[in-house]
Amino acid sequence: MSESDTKQGMIAQIAAAYASRPDVSADDIIALVGRLTQALDPEAEAAALLNETSPTPATAATAPAIPVEQAITQDKVYCLCCGKGFKMLKRHLGSEHGLTEAEYRAMFNLPEDMPLVAPSYSKRKADYAKQAGFGKYARQAPDRGAASRQKAD
Ligand SMILES: [Zn+2]
Repeated sequence: MSESDTKQGMIAQIAAAYASRPDVSADDIIALVGRLTQALDPEAEAAALLNETSPTPATAATAPAIPVEQAITQDKVYCLCCGKGFKMLKRHLGSEHGLTEAEYRAMFNLPEDMPLVAPSYSKRKADYAKQAGFGKYARQAPDRGAASRQKAD
């Protein structure tokens, strides 16, 4: 991807500048590149943190970042790719991982009925839709005749 190419280019440039100093050892450079890689890629850092606390390290590409059974809480669904929590995953999957919901399900063998929206969020949306619906029917459309009919009521 072009974004990571840019990051790698930046790291290479910084490392090269650092390496030109006479007081720098090869180990210093390796340590610097490691720190830069993490600093420039917060997702990798987050994954590394998760791996430290997780008993099963995510080695395979399709191994979930967190256990599937912990991926859904009342308020958030967690991305199995990177372990971040969201109210809804769809947009994140598309923008961060270039995945559709179907591809994401296939990647982690998720059942068709596994929600990718936080339960509390989808409930709030349903409540909102209900309220909006009630509001619409209660108000009626303010077209010709509606005003006088409302007065009569
Ligand atoms: Zn993600």
